[in-house]
Amino acid sequence: MSTTRRIKLGCIADDFTGATDLANNLVRAGMRVVQTIGVPHGPLDTDADAVVVALKSRTIPPAEAIDQSLVALQWLQEQGAQQIYFKYCSTFDSTATGNIGPVTEALMAALNTPFTIATPAFPDNKRTVFKGYLFAGEGLLNESGMQNHPLTPMTDPNLVRVLQAQTRGKVGLIDHQVVAQGEAAIRARIETLKAEGVAVAIVDAISNADLLRMAPALKDLPLLTAGSGVAIGLPANFGLAPSSEASSLPVARGLRAIVSGSCSVATNQQVLDFIQRGGEALAIDPLRIASGANVAAEALAWAEARVNRGPVLVYSTAEPSAVRAIQGQLGVEEAGAMVERTIATIAHGLVERGVRQLVVAGGETSGACVQALGIAQMRIGPQIDPGVPWCHAVAKGAPEGLHITLKSGNFGTADFFTKAFAQLDTPTA
Ligand code: ADP
Repeated sequence: MSTTRRIKLGCIADDFTGATDLANNLVRAGMRVVQTIGVPHGPLDTDADAVVVALKSRTIPPAEAIDQSLVALQWLQEQGAQQIYFKYCSTFDSTATGNIGPVTEALMAALNTPFTIATPAFPDNKRTVFKGYLFAGEGLLNESGMQNHPLTPMTDPNLVRVLQAQTRGKVGLIDHQVVAQGEAAIRARIETLKAEGVAVAIVDAISNADLLRMAPALKDLPLLTAGSGVAIGLPANFGLAPSSEASSLPVARGLRAIVSGSCSVATNQQVLDFIQRGGEALAIDPLRIASGANVAAEALAWAEARVNRGPVLVYSTAEPSAVRAIQGQLGVEEAGAMVERTIATIAHGLVERGVRQLVVAGGETSGACVQALGIAQMRIGPQIDPGVPWCHAVAKGAPEGLHITLKSGNFGTADFFTKAFAQLDTPTA
């Protein structure tokens, strides 16, 4: 008996938090979305309009990124996907050899399509594209700090040039003048570019209105490549409108906890805010972990004595000077991996002790926790802050599922931890 559920949109994201960002935008525009961690082994076992397959392919060798993306494509096609969306970072993070270009061309070949678009524009996050140039915040990409990124330094803001260096096919531009005229003009421009032998067109967008104007013209393309911005206009192409049903999750039950391994500015503020409101909080010391103390067991004993009374926070979050001192003693990678492992063990232990509403702060920390909890897929729920939704997932220790939110680095307002739980108290969450 075939129980395959038919999805509408199939998405392949080149990293984990980027996948959630895309899923969040699709949910807000009316799709029911499931995010999977890697490519699932069997058919989708739940109803969804879109599935976002989260890969970790942004900076791996191009051949491996292609292989993983093609496996994801095949799975999405088997689930009935009518259109494929390759999602990358809104700062177009890539090296001179990829992986945006090579993966795009491999997907085009597999889908047998001669043309696609590329736009990282995400105006809500201050990423705009004008005349093919990518702006991050008030300035050009190569003046935004991204020129110093350790893995994917972006030194050229001209996306036509950047992508052309990564592709065999010709790269062109659909500029803002055309986008501003709407669907018919964009469709006409696509036909002209195709006739000129252009395989991929960078598309300008400086506002959400541009993205919404663009969407109807993209309806018939088998493949789209973009940041998460283009997603805001796509559900309407499938006849879907924003609805609370799209983001509905089961009623939240169980105990509440926060684990934080993020040392970003925003997370430091969030930890402080939680403590100042009188929240129960325990700092864990990386040096004690390094000395062999069973910090996870200690933290779980501490939490067990308190978590029945209200949310508890366990954190390694520290100010930059403290983090540098730890890194100086233990090494950057060592310290990171050790803290991640400890926090992931604590997260799993908390779930085993009845926590069913879990906030995780930190991108890498989230990856470690999701792995420790054996989470294979998450249903995406309502947004707490831009880019950060509540999710629901079956996990080790919670076969009936738990509510989890994965907050990367600088996301969220200062009161994020308090706000997140308050949102689950309201019936619409
Ligand atoms: P963010 O999303 O803010 O970048 P991540 O979880 O991705 O957060 O990265 C933070 C990294 O710092 C992780 O590897 C984490 O284990 C490590 N870390 C956390 N706390 C400390 C600390 N006190 N000292 C040194 N490293 C730490």
